[in-house]
Amino acid sequence: MMSENPYAPPVQRRGPLHGAAGIPLQREGDVLVVPFGATIPDVCLRCGAVDDLVKRRASFQWTPAWARVLLVLCALPGLVAFLVTTKRAALDVPLCAPCDARWTTARNAIVGAVVLLVGGVLGVKILEDATIALVGLVALVGAALFARTRMLGARRIDDTRILLERVAPAAMAKLFA
Ligand SMILES: [Zn+2]
Repeated sequence: MMSENPYAPPVQRRGPLHGAAGIPLQREGDVLVVPFGATIPDVCLRCGAVDDLVKRRASFQWTPAWARVLLVLCALPGLVAFLVTTKRAALDVPLCAPCDARWTTARNAIVGAVVLLVGGVLGVKILEDATIALVGLVALVGAALFARTRMLGARRIDDTRILLERVAPAAMAKLFA
């Protein structure tokens, strides 16, 4: 990129492999590996746009597959394993305004479905009818599928890093050009 003033000090560019904190991001196939403390360069992770970005504070959680299976198979030990092994992490995700709005819509759909499901389950005894709970369950599955097209997900979270999935190939190309 040419500078207009040849005597201007060099602009400190965020290198393609380095966040602002100097902690390198990594790539594992189609997964973006973000070590805790790293800053993601200014690229919309959902579409690869670089203009008019916002930083969205997003929370991610991840539970090992065996703990999720255990939760389905046996209620109490499964619940304990689920709670103990689930890891959470928050990240500032760069997004363009349209992708940020799409993310918000998906999150609202999930919240709405959860409210419907919980309300339906709590209301089963009173209404003597499980229809609302079932509608809530179907809505939650639908919202989760909807969210897969609009939100990033955590492939894994360990003690030092979060592995993001569903990062746009265009964004990956810019991050690791
Ligand atoms: Zn975007």
